[in-house]
Amino acid sequence: MEITAGSHVWVEDQELAWVDGVVTSVNGNEAEVETINGNQVTTKLSKLYPKDMEAPDTGVDDMTKLSYLHEPAVLHNLAIRYGIKEIYTYCGNILIAINPFQAISHLYDTKLMDSYKGAQLGDRSPHVFAITDVAYRAMNNEGKSNSILVSGESGAGKTETTKMIMRYLAYLGGHAAAEARTVERKVLESNPVLEAFGNAKTVRNNNSSRFGKFVEIQFDARGQISGAAIRTYLLEKSRVCQISEPERNYHCFYLLCAAPPKEIEKYKLGDPKSFHYLNQSSCYELVGVDDSHDYLATKKAMDIVGISVGEQDAIFRIVAAILHLGNIAFALEGEDSSVLEDDKAKFHLQVAAELLMYGYILALETALCKRNMVTPEEVIKRSLDPLGAAISRDGLAKTIYARLFDWLVKKINVSIGQDPDSKCLIGVLDIYGFESFKTSSFEQFCINFTNEKLQQHFNQHVFKMEQSVYQEEEIDWSYIDFVDNQDVLDLIEKKPGGIISLLDETCMFPKSTHETFAQKLYQTFKDHKRFVKPKLARTEFTIVHYAGEVQYQCDQFLDKNKDYIVPEHQELLSTSKCSFIASLFPSLNAETPKSGKFSSIGSRFKLQLQQLMDILNSTEPHYIRCIKPNSDLRPEIFENVSVLQQLRSGGVLEAIRVKCEGYPTNRIFSEFLERFSILAPEVLKENVEENVACKSIMEKVGLSNYQIGKTKIFLRAGQMAELDGRKAKL
Ligand code: ATP
Ligand code: MG
Repeated sequence: MEITAGSHVWVEDQELAWVDGVVTSVNGNEAEVETINGNQVTTKLSKLYPKDMEAPDTGVDDMTKLSYLHEPAVLHNLAIRYGIKEIYTYCGNILIAINPFQAISHLYDTKLMDSYKGAQLGDRSPHVFAITDVAYRAMNNEGKSNSILVSGESGAGKTETTKMIMRYLAYLGGHAAAEARTVERKVLESNPVLEAFGNAKTVRNNNSSRFGKFVEIQFDARGQISGAAIRTYLLEKSRVCQISEPERNYHCFYLLCAAPPKEIEKYKLGDPKSFHYLNQSSCYELVGVDDSHDYLATKKAMDIVGISVGEQDAIFRIVAAILHLGNIAFALEGEDSSVLEDDKAKFHLQVAAELLMYGYILALETALCKRNMVTPEEVIKRSLDPLGAAISRDGLAKTIYARLFDWLVKKINVSIGQDPDSKCLIGVLDIYGFESFKTSSFEQFCINFTNEKLQQHFNQHVFKMEQSVYQEEEIDWSYIDFVDNQDVLDLIEKKPGGIISLLDETCMFPKSTHETFAQKLYQTFKDHKRFVKPKLARTEFTIVHYAGEVQYQCDQFLDKNKDYIVPEHQELLSTSKCSFIASLFPSLNAETPKSGKFSSIGSRFKLQLQQLMDILNSTEPHYIRCIKPNSDLRPEIFENVSVLQQLRSGGVLEAIRVKCEGYPTNRIFSEFLERFSILAPEVLKENVEENVACKSIMEKVGLSNYQIGKTKIFLRAGQMAELDGRKAKL
């Protein structure tokens, strides 16, 4: 469209990302724009986007209905909808969900569920129920598994969305008879249990999931839920021992400290402020959360998912024991040995030993303060200094907690049960979105690797969907192309030669350090397009991800990649008199890797991810992109710049780009004629077929490269604006 004085346009703005205004003058390829916030801006014509003056002021419920599909229009559309509490918007078949940070009345009640049941996508306003309904129906009608992939950054609303999907599936595929309803109840109640042990307050979210989750809900031939399986990914272990202001440790610790007096006495607990693992941050309570109420609620949920009273006792005994372990402080003895710091440390050692093993106080102390040195002749017990002993203690706490979490997941799976006859499933993925922090470490590396994988899957899907629309309308699409991110994936996961492989090699070589690892990376990927060695860097490297560059700090890559349990700890716990604890540490047989020997977290994660992708590839995917509108977690605030960045990371902008490469706008013939017949009024008089009339208009205006389908006209990017421009000049 020709931009002239008086044109309404979008212009870039540092604070707002995009702001609208009116062109006051044009000089060569530059324009002066007066923005609505009163600024005069001079900018290149090529950087301006036309503003659709006919767009409805309540926005459109599907981005593909935007007459001008471009970044500012997309952003503006979301912002105005968010302003009127419309948190859901489609972008084709992708659902965008913006966290309202407030309860919106009737948004999830049963009546609303009724109204979405069986409705076509687009017949009712965009909703997570609508997407779920489509997935469920597709599964029933076509006998094919479906999956719903929920992504977004921390606090964007993934877990809440996932819970709504599960609730709606339980509503659709639930059983009428009360006694058969246990399966869906167990599936739903698994959420509070896993949240108690796997969620924590972080800076970004008061209820942040510190693990990834894929729930596979199985259905029988009648479309009723017949089983389920839960898989979890990469629980953040470090949080058990280390938290920083204003975060919290996992919820379960605070819940237990708020338990009824009988339990407090039994586990010798007290004020959370008295425990080292909790008092590293001064945040103990959460606004709107009653820990003592949640303790009972968690136990109730445990009852429902089939965790027995005895098992619950063992679980909370372990949680308490971890708190006591954390209070075992060490002091220096002699030159480089350590002893328990004081009576307080002795008390906690005693309690921890009692809770974990019903005794063995000395054995626990030895396991914490000493290490076996194996020489050809004999095994020598070497003392650790206080720092070494504290690291040993924290390692023990983390391992116990991680095994407890895995046990919970396994137990829930056994209790819900899998249906061997089920042919169809709906998978729901709630997994961490792309992360880039001031210091990004191994965790971010794994998370972003996941997102690259999912992005590839997403791109392929979006591309396929776009093609299918063109195919349906029988138009030519052969020249549309898109860029893949296979090169980043190769950089990370190629075997041999990728970063994970190199990391494993480095870990196996006893003399390596994070510096040698970094050097190896610099050498190997000198010329890789997606790898950058930052200037002056010695232990950092940058990956050019699809969502932006991330700089990783190698410092802890080696340690964090090693899944390692100290043999002394393993031995101690496997001989615990508490059978529950002993079962978490089964003594090793020849097949399992020897304790003390390196096993790679990165490689295992890669394998898990491949298995996940294999499942996803065998399903029909549906995507929900959750967006966090502001970082204050407050309602009614919509921050453009950050939303735009999330639309980019979530692939929404990429999907739009793929669309723009082809035919971003299409209109049913009659709609097109209604809007533009004024450009060639003679055409309507001729009484020709609608498609011919559309063609005539385009020819008269002098536009080419568009396509006429069976029922719709497909326009190239910018053509709609061009037509509107002509109309305005009449
Ligand atoms: P993380 O990656 O940290 O786990 P997340 O994307 O899973 O984050 P949620 O825990 O689902 O984020 O959401 C964060 C908070 O936002 C919720 O605790 C809730 O207060 C609010 N919230 C999210 N979705 C909704 C919704 N649909 N309606 C009302 N509030 C919501
Ligand atoms: Mg979550």
